[in-house]
Amino acid sequence: MTAHTRAALDALPAYTPGRTVPGAIKLASNEMSFPALPSVVAAIAEAAAGINRYPDIGSAALVAVLADTFNVEPEQLAVGCGSVALCEQLIQATCTAQDEVIFAWRSFEAYPILAQVVGAGAVKVPLSGGNLETAEALDLPALAAAITDRTRLIFICNPNNPTGTALRESDLIAFLDQVPTDVLVVIDEAYREFVDDPSIPDGIELARGRQNVAVLRTLSKAYGLAGLRVGYAVAAPEIAAAIRKVSVPFSVNSIAQAAAIASLAAAPELLDRCRQVIAERARVRNALLDMGFRVPPSQANFVWLPLRDRAAAFAAHCEESKVIVRPFNDAVNGGVRVTIGSAAENDVFLSAAASFTL
Ligand SMILES: *Cc1c(COP(=O)(O)O)cnc(C)c1O
Repeated sequence: MTAHTRAALDALPAYTPGRTVPGAIKLASNEMSFPALPSVVAAIAEAAAGINRYPDIGSAALVAVLADTFNVEPEQLAVGCGSVALCEQLIQATCTAQDEVIFAWRSFEAYPILAQVVGAGAVKVPLSGGNLETAEALDLPALAAAITDRTRLIFICNPNNPTGTALRESDLIAFLDQVPTDVLVVIDEAYREFVDDPSIPDGIELARGRQNVAVLRTLSKAYGLAGLRVGYAVAAPEIAAAIRKVSVPFSVNSIAQAAAIASLAAAPELLDRCRQVIAERARVRNALLDMGFRVPPSQANFVWLPLRDRAAAFAAHCEESKVIVRPFNDAVNGGVRVTIGSAAENDVFLSAAASFTL
């Protein structure tokens, strides 16, 4: 007989990563296509010499830089092994089996998996319909209406992965004002650095003075450190402390801490890369619209094609041209997420898309 494992795990879907196919262009995981900066590689090499020692468990040097950057107290910060780990820690810190997590669907595919791992209930609220400018966005009135006595946590992914849509400041403030103060709202801003619409709020500013709002950011996307796993949360001191309590000790390694500090020091250079991605995003979206695709406006480093149950066919078609995209095959809310790569990579993708029969 095999030893007992939790029954909840039998129904647990595996996280599906974007595929890496040798020789193909990968536009499947929202990574930056730029290589690591020499200054960051140098910091990594220097940290490598000290790997016989455990890392600083509290990432104090990195926390000091973040506190300074965002003008918050160090006590308001928690650093994690990618912000996906912080998502899990936030659920662990707030939910037991009787409690519920609310999030839009479709949104970040880790949310339902992490809720199930912790053993909390997951409440999925459909995205909004409507015209091209309003569809595929978080439906804030519906999210507010889903709150019950069991709700402990609400994930607001802004901009939303995988649809790229973003919430405006006035709408988000009106929503936050409706949430009971004992329910934590987590604004997941993994793509904040790609926002160029001034009506989209900075979550860290929104969270000031709100005890029940936490903000998640990551070094994986704009800062190009996906392989090293560093993310951070900004929250009220009590919430940040709770996140730190449930973390696996030493989960942010010393090389990752050093690379994150070096990357934040290189912010002007790295944010300039984001501006290049933003320009390419507009070019790619316009080309797709000209081809007849529906493409909601995106504020992230990817675009979303709501192709529903033709998502898999489109992804297979792109793969014939050696471009790997990320399909979510579902007749109701499926589509294809395509990361914005270099101009040359995007051109290969666009020529593949042009020969797909809509
Ligand atoms: C990529 C992503 C994250 C976290 O990425 P990490 O690599 O774990 O920091 C979190 N939320 C969303 C919505 C993402 O797309």
